[in-house]
Amino acid sequence: MTDRGTVRGQATTGRDGTTPQGVTTFMAESCSLPFCKGCGHGHVLRKLNDAMVRLRLDPSKVSLVTDIGCIGLADSLFSLPHTVHTTHGRSTAFATGIELADAVLADSRLKTIVMIGDGGAMIGLLHLVNAALLNVDVTVILCNNYLFGMTGGQNSAFSPLDFITSTTPRGNMIPPLDVCGLMTGSNAGFVARKLATDPDLGDTIADAIAHPGFSMVEVVELCTEFGARRNRLSGTVLRGIVESHGQSLGVLTSGTARGEFGTVYSGKFPPNGEKAGGRGDGFILRKFNATLDRRFGIVIGGSAGEKVQSAAATLCEAAAMSGLHSSQKNDNPVTQGTGFSLAEVCLDPSVVEYTGIDSPDAVIVASDAGAAQLTAGGIFGRCRPDTLVVCDADVRIPDSPGTIVRPALRKTFGPTRAALGALAFALGRLGLFPSSAFIEAIRRRDADLAGMIEGKAGKLASPEDTSSTP
Ligand code: SF4
Ligand SMILES: [Mg+2]
Repeated sequence: MTDRGTVRGQATTGRDGTTPQGVTTFMAESCSLPFCKGCGHGHVLRKLNDAMVRLRLDPSKVSLVTDIGCIGLADSLFSLPHTVHTTHGRSTAFATGIELADAVLADSRLKTIVMIGDGGAMIGLLHLVNAALLNVDVTVILCNNYLFGMTGGQNSAFSPLDFITSTTPRGNMIPPLDVCGLMTGSNAGFVARKLATDPDLGDTIADAIAHPGFSMVEVVELCTEFGARRNRLSGTVLRGIVESHGQSLGVLTSGTARGEFGTVYSGKFPPNGEKAGGRGDGFILRKFNATLDRRFGIVIGGSAGEKVQSAAATLCEAAAMSGLHSSQKNDNPVTQGTGFSLAEVCLDPSVVEYTGIDSPDAVIVASDAGAAQLTAGGIFGRCRPDTLVVCDADVRIPDSPGTIVRPALRKTFGPTRAALGALAFALGRLGLFPSSAFIEAIRRRDADLAGMIEGKAGKLASPEDTSSTP
């Protein structure tokens, strides 16, 4: 049993043998196990339940994530913790997402536990590797019964040599994956391989849950329906099968100097948005108020290598600083450094649920390559009379019903800043949110550039610098 300090998801006070909420079991009181007689899953779930109670976890701070397969029925048996039933092989990815959201957006107190079979682990193996490399505070309990049980007993990457399954009727010819070795090689801080019948399985699961970072327990067990009869197996021979493949049992790795991802992330990007040293930029905080009260679509066209898409990203950042939601879609040829570069930005006081722009509210044309691509896409024909088209003075575009202004973007700002300058100019006219928000967004990246754009865009906004003649 663990003697580690406070565990995530753990409540701080309570009576012996119960959680502080008086919880004696996380499972539904009257649940009957849905598994075949003798199946190892029920045994593992009871040990998991015991471990959670003994750790005095607060059920409201526990998230149980299950995979597809017989073990995926686990979530319906646990009535108190949060449960998430996911797609085949992806449970660890979902759990990683839950942990990252908890670490970045919330109070980083959730304990997230994955229940996955060997079939699911095989399908989504890289999700386990990724979670181990990240060192997110996720515990994976991998129930390895050497085959796909729910779908009829097919061979898995974990099946032992000579194992008879519905897809290897003459015996498996491929050696089994050593998932514990893979996890250790992925820098997992706690790795164990246990038999479902081990008396101390509950202790090992508790230690894995208490480990502050990624942990995995592979539990070797029997599928009585498809594994036992075909292979003349009983629980007592599982140890011999494991050892015959050179795989060890017990706690194989425990303890690591690596910081848990959420803790490391919070140190680098503190939630108050202040820089924590180095290049950490913190969060985007709302500092301005937008006047925009409807969805607004802006299309930006320019040349590859001229920072068109980063200008659009700066626009989105300024919008977020003004309390708006935004989306950005980019397009460019497969070759990154030649040809056109496009960005479509939707701004909205509400969540952006549709990222397409059927009729643009504003169009920025920063170069000939951008104009050609926008023309090919029919953008100019889809403008309305109230659509603001800001086009470089030397770039040709077709007739459009939009309101066209033609400042000398490239000469004023330079080719690589023409799109950024055009946006500053356009925002001054459109008044979607304070122009100072856009300048502030530029300043977060480059203070000198912000000064240049602010000064030149302000002068460009005077009427004599523009012309509405296409
Ligand atoms: S098919 Fe196998 S894994 Fe599924 S419940 Fe039955 S014994 Fe368990
Ligand atoms: Mg299985």
